[in-house]
Amino acid sequence: MKFELPKLPYDYSALEPYIDAKTMEIHYTKHHQAYVDKLNAAVEKYPGLQGRPIEELLKNLADLKVEEADRLAIRNHGGGHYNHSLFWTYLDPKNQKDELLAKEITSTFGSTEDFKKQFTDSATKLFGSGWTWLVRNGKNSKLEIKNFPMQDSPIMTGDQLIFGLDVWEHAYYLKYQNKRADYIDAWWNVIKIV
Ligand code: MN
Repeated sequence: MKFELPKLPYDYSALEPYIDAKTMEIHYTKHHQAYVDKLNAAVEKYPGLQGRPIEELLKNLADLKVEEADRLAIRNHGGGHYNHSLFWTYLDPKNQKDELLAKEITSTFGSTEDFKKQFTDSATKLFGSGWTWLVRNGKNSKLEIKNFPMQDSPIMTGDQLIFGLDVWEHAYYLKYQNKRADYIDAWWNVIKIV
């Protein structure tokens, strides 16, 4: 069974004016689709990897019996597929505030505003392409803000993903050009979980 693009649970225009319909359409139908296609190409010659959940491949990346070039392709495109599959669900306008998480954020970071400031700061400073995540540390269960380069995902380091922000230029350039900070500010309006 091949990896497939998950269904987007809302319209491309659902996040306007914060994230524009054209960016959503290209991000989902071109960028995410390309990760899926290239992931499928990378696992094509390994029947043992086909049909295994993407989470499992990413958690066990170092132990997969594959050529190094294919391991890198699975890391990049598999990470891209996994991160984006989750990203669309974080943006769902039907999401509601998670009160329990909000309480934990307040006790960990001081206040929701302090948390947003720290997260924004981390995402603004991330150099090049990557993601900023709120994770639960796999070892001590504490909430943490972490940056990951390229399409690396917290699942690869044993952390639990809570939500993340894609700061690749393809996520905002059409509407915000080089102004990543404006995109991040706008993005907080579509994250209903916190
Ligand atoms: Mn992206």
